[in-house]
Amino acid sequence: MHPELIRVTNTIACVRRPSYVTCSYIVQTARGVVLVDAGMKSDGSDVFWGLDQLGLDHGSVTTILITHWHNDHAAGAAAIVEATGARVICTEAEAPYLRRETAATGLAGWIADAVPEVGPFVLVKGLLGNAPMRAAPPDACVGDGDVVEGFEVITTPGHTEGHAAYLYEPEGVLFAGDALAVIDGELRFMAKPVTPDLVAARASMQKLMRRAFTRVCAGHRAPALIDASHRQAFAARLDDDDWPELG
Ligand SMILES: [Zn+2]
Repeated sequence: MHPELIRVTNTIACVRRPSYVTCSYIVQTARGVVLVDAGMKSDGSDVFWGLDQLGLDHGSVTTILITHWHNDHAAGAAAIVEATGARVICTEAEAPYLRRETAATGLAGWIADAVPEVGPFVLVKGLLGNAPMRAAPPDACVGDGDVVEGFEVITTPGHTEGHAAYLYEPEGVLFAGDALAVIDGELRFMAKPVTPDLVAARASMQKLMRRAFTRVCAGHRAPALIDASHRQAFAARLDDDDWPELG
């Protein structure tokens, strides 16, 4: 079954899987294609299908920006690197996961290997295995404020320790990964059970709300236009509200 392709702008498209409505993004830049996350299939087929739909050569992919190592975001990285020679970029804290140095051994590792790579099992498989299923060692580790191919790295710990968002100024787009949620066009907290560090995650969202952007492309559901008043309203919620159980 194919994922779904959502055209976000003339240069940005979203490849979306029904499982968890997970989104990875294909961005056409003057210097080639940049991916934000790498799809949910360890054979890279989500992204390759998206490139085909857009009429883009697989070889045009130069860079894979990883928001975080979870299998629903990073599964395809290894295969895409093999096929395209693209470089993988993530933060220092996320790197051991992408190198699979963290991979579960013993029973948990065995169970993770046995879990099928289909639908909602993809995330579970990665979480049990404590790493993506195939190693995609980063070619460079980035930190807060670094700029790669026009994408500014904004470190946003909370959902994972090394989570990064990427602000793409040419299009005014914030690629938020799982640092926050967008539901029905509204900015929302991520669900509490998937947020191990609530304090860090809240600070990360506050940091993001201080930035200027007009569109949010998050790790799940659908991209949304977000204006300044909407950002300010959500920033006020972040200052005052208790963390809602389900985001
Ligand atoms: Zn995640």
